[in-house]
Amino acid sequence: MAQNFQPKPSPIFLSRTSFPCAVAILLLFLALTGYYSLRNICPKTASSSSSSFSHTQDDTQKLKPHAVEQIFLNSSNNSTISSFLHSLTLKPHLAGTPPALHTLQYLLTQLKTLPLQTHLSQYEVLLSYPLHSSLTAHFTNGTTKTLFLQEVGVPRGQIVQPYHAYSPSGSAWAPPVYVNYGRAEDYRALEVLGVNVSGCVAVVRRGSVPRGGVVERAAQEGAVAVLLYAEGDGEEEEGIERGTVMEGLGDPLTPGWAAVRGTHSERLGLEDKEVRRRFPKIPSMPISAHNAYVILSSLGGPRLPYNWGPSKVTTRNKDRTGSGVGPGPTLLNFTYQAEKKMATLRNAFAVIRGVEEPDRYVLLGNHRDAWTYGAVDPNSGTAALLDIARRYALLIRLGWNPRRTIILCSWDAEEFGMIGSTEWVEQNLENLGSKAVAYLNVDCAVQGPGFFAGATPQLDNLIVEVTKKVNDPDLHKMTVYQTWAAANSGINIGRLGRVDSDFAAFLQHSGVPSIDLYYGKDFPVYHTAFDSYDWMKKYGDPLFHRHVAVAGIWGLLALHLADDPILPFEYLSYATQLQEHMEALSVLLDTGISLHSINSSIQELVDAANGAKMEAKKLREKKYVEDLSELRIRAFNDRLMLAERGFLEPEGLKGRQWFKHLIYGPPRNRESKQSFFPGIADAMDRAAKMKKIEGQSAIQHEIWRVARAIQRAAIALSGELS
Ligand SMILES: [Zn+2]
Repeated sequence: MAQNFQPKPSPIFLSRTSFPCAVAILLLFLALTGYYSLRNICPKTASSSSSSFSHTQDDTQKLKPHAVEQIFLNSSNNSTISSFLHSLTLKPHLAGTPPALHTLQYLLTQLKTLPLQTHLSQYEVLLSYPLHSSLTAHFTNGTTKTLFLQEVGVPRGQIVQPYHAYSPSGSAWAPPVYVNYGRAEDYRALEVLGVNVSGCVAVVRRGSVPRGGVVERAAQEGAVAVLLYAEGDGEEEEGIERGTVMEGLGDPLTPGWAAVRGTHSERLGLEDKEVRRRFPKIPSMPISAHNAYVILSSLGGPRLPYNWGPSKVTTRNKDRTGSGVGPGPTLLNFTYQAEKKMATLRNAFAVIRGVEEPDRYVLLGNHRDAWTYGAVDPNSGTAALLDIARRYALLIRLGWNPRRTIILCSWDAEEFGMIGSTEWVEQNLENLGSKAVAYLNVDCAVQGPGFFAGATPQLDNLIVEVTKKVNDPDLHKMTVYQTWAAANSGINIGRLGRVDSDFAAFLQHSGVPSIDLYYGKDFPVYHTAFDSYDWMKKYGDPLFHRHVAVAGIWGLLALHLADDPILPFEYLSYATQLQEHMEALSVLLDTGISLHSINSSIQELVDAANGAKMEAKKLREKKYVEDLSELRIRAFNDRLMLAERGFLEPEGLKGRQWFKHLIYGPPRNRESKQSFFPGIADAMDRAAKMKKIEGQSAIQHEIWRVARAIQRAAIALSGELS
C-alpha cells in the first residue's frame, strides 16, 4: 500500500526530527536503485498461513539482504534509546512488586504501537523479600554504633532495602572475622594463623565466587552469619550490592518443570529436601564498603595474610590500630527477617513470524526486572531491544519479512535466579529443542567502554564479521571490530559455562547455540540504588552511542541468523576450542588418566566440520544458479542447528540432572574456575576425597561421557547414520 511508503508517524518518530528525513532520503535512494518494489511494501508482518517453506514471493521484489542491513544500521538513534531507558527506569521495578507492572506495560505499549505481535507467558513462583534487618557494632571501649543498612540519601520505602534473596531469617550476637573472598583457601590461611571462624560472623569481600557459594562455604566452616561487601571508592563506598543466594536456576518449588499458574502444576513443599537444598543454612546480608570498614578497622587478632593482597577497605586502615582479621574483640548484633512469597512472573514476547521457515526460531532475550532502577542492569539491554524492535518494524513497513521467525523476549525475575527464562525453557523444551536456531542474550548492555562477547564457538565467526559492520561508539572512523582487535585481550570470546544470565537455560538445559553481549564490565553501581538513568548519562554512556553499538551488533546477528539461507554456523571453531579445553584439562590430570577418547572425538568433529564447510560453500554457490531444493538447504541447516544438541546428555550432570550440557555448565564447586567440562570438574573434586584408583575411574568415566557427547555432535553435523 502506497500510503505506507513513509515510516508510519509514531510518537517516537515525531520527537526525532532528523530521523524521518534521513530515512526518506535512504528510501528514495533504494527505490531509485531498484532495491525494492513499492508494490511489495506491506504494512504488517506477512503471516504465512501455509507450513511450506518454499518461496512465496518473487526474490527480485524483496529487499536485498544488503539493503536490509544498511537500513537497519542507518536507522539507529541514540536519543530514542536514551528516552526508552529513561522511561523504563523511572521507578525501581523489582520482580513481583506493583511497579514492575508499569515497566511491563511501557514495554508492551511500545511494541504494540510499532506494531508488533506480542504475548505474555505467566508463572507463579516462590520469591523472597526482606522484612527487617539491623546491625550494631559493640566496641571494646564500651561504645556502640548502629550501622545504616540502606544507601545514604535514598528515599525510604521506594527502593527495596539491601538483602540477599532466599537468605533465611536469623540473628547472631557474635564476633566478626575477616575472611577475604570467603574461599576454602582463605579459611585455610586463617587456620594457619590459628583463627577459627566457628560461631563467628564472617565478613567477606565480594570476589568471583557467587554469593550463594560464599555463604555455603561460611556455613561449612561454622560461621553463624555472613556480611558481604563490594569494594568501592568515594561515593561507591555507600553502594550496597543486593543479590540472590539461591543455588541453581528457576523456581525452587518446580525444579525441572514449569511453574504454571493455578492448581495445574505440581509444586514441592517448602520443607522438601530438594527445595531446602537450594537455600543457604545461615543468614547473610550485603553491607556497604563503608560499614565493612567500620567493622574491619576495629578487629584485633593476627595480621592479614600477606598474600590476600590489597583490599581497598583494609589498606585504608594501615595507620590505625587494629588491622587484624579478628575474631573480635568487637561484637556484632545482627538480625535479619525475610518472607518467601508466591508471586506472578510475566515474560513478554514480540514475534515477527518468518515467511519461509516460520517454525525456526531466532530468539533475542533480555531480562526486565531490576533490583533498583536498573539503568545498567538490565534495562540498558531492554532499551537496546526496544530499539531493535523499532528498526525491525521499520524494515517490515519497507517490505522485509524474515525468512525464520524472530522472537524478542523480555524475562522476569532473572535477578532471583534466572527464573522467568528457566520456567519458559522448561515449558517449551520440545519446541526449542527441535526448532530454536540460536538464543542471543543481552543483560547489562552498557556498563562502560569496551566490547565483550561470550558465545558457543560455532557463532564466533559470525560475531567477528558483524562487528566489522558496526561503528565504534567511542572512536571516530573505526569499527567495533578494529578497536576490539586492538584491545589488550584482543578478539577474545568468552564461553558460557556460568549461570549468571538468561542464556543458561537455553544452552545448559536445552542445547541452543547462544551468545551473550555487553559493553564495559565490572561497573561500580552493580545492584545498588545508584544504578540509575543519571549514572548512565553521567558515566556509563553519556551520548548513548554504546547502546547504539550493542543494538547494532545484536540486531545484525539476529538478521543473519534469521535471513541467511545457509545458517552462519562454523563448527571448526568449536573443534579448535574443544582442543584447547582438552589441553588445559590435561595439565590438571594425573598421568594415569587418558584423554585419548576426547581427542579422537574431536577429530571426528573436525572431519564433520570440514565436510559441512565444503557443503555450505557448494550450497551457497548453487543457490542462485540452480533451482536448488529448499528442502536440501533446510536439511543441511537442521544439521548445523542440531549439532549443538549432541552435547546434551539426557541424564545430565551427576547429582545435578537439570544441567544437560557436558561442555558448558557450572562446576558443582562454586569456587572452581573451570568454565568447561563441568562433569569432569565435579569428578575431579569428588576424586580428591576417594581412594586413588576409584577417583581415577570416576574421572575417566566423565571423560568418556564428554567424548561420547562430542561424537554425537559430530554425527549430527555429518548427518550420516553410523
Ligand atoms: Zn541482570
